[in-house]
Amino acid sequence: MVLVGTQHPRNIGAAARALKAMGFGALHLVAPAKFPHPDASALAAGADDLLEAARISATLAEAVAGCILVLGSTATRRAVPMPELAPREAAARLLAASRHGEVALVFGPERTGLENSELELCHASVCIPTEAAFSSLNLAQAVQVLAYELRLAAMAEEGIEAAREPLDERRPASHDEMERFFVHLDQALHDIDFHKGRSGVTVMRRLRRLFLRAAPDERELRVLHGILADARRMARLAAGKAR
Ligand code: SAH
Repeated sequence: MVLVGTQHPRNIGAAARALKAMGFGALHLVAPAKFPHPDASALAAGADDLLEAARISATLAEAVAGCILVLGSTATRRAVPMPELAPREAAARLLAASRHGEVALVFGPERTGLENSELELCHASVCIPTEAAFSSLNLAQAVQVLAYELRLAAMAEEGIEAAREPLDERRPASHDEMERFFVHLDQALHDIDFHKGRSGVTVMRRLRRLFLRAAPDERELRVLHGILADARRMARLAAGKAR
């Protein structure tokens, strides 16, 4: 679990307690306002080991760099159009992906929630269904609900462990590999003059959404890089001829 910009140390402690009770160990804090803090330890009520082992990063991008699946939890629908998962679906996706690599479930700061720029780093959002007019849960309670769903999913899976099919060979691309691809894609679009003077921001946002939804594996990314490299080479040749 990744907690971004948590303001109240009590929520960090309560989140650690919720996680430990559900059998999870890894807590990642991004720029917490106050940590370590006695209030966090007080509310952890015995889950201090999670607090001590908590990793701390300056940015969300840094925290999820090695992750192959990143889900952002939000109370309200945001301006960023992205697939929205129900808690149960999200738990199943996280569990399945965790067999191939690291996964992250991200929570925003108490007052403001996750910023759009942070949600853009996520493959999908997760929303705990609530009353429309009162949708925002306490941070640690939201952690509890989603950790519980993950536990249910893990328990159900243990039950069918024996019948599981062999793992396929796909290793989904990591966050870093996806970001490198987006930089390359942006360069190629410029080289082939796709934007024609317009700002490419909206198009890039749509393309990010498309490729994050497709969740390519490393081999597929290599093919895409190859296509982009050829497109750029052809654009250079064409520019040379036009001169
Ligand atoms: N006003 C903020 C609420 C932040 S609550 C907002 O509109 O987003 C702090 C964090 O708890 C949120 O960023 C989210 O990660 C989690 N959270 C709270 N309520 C949630 C809900 N109904 N579904 C999913 N996550 C929720």
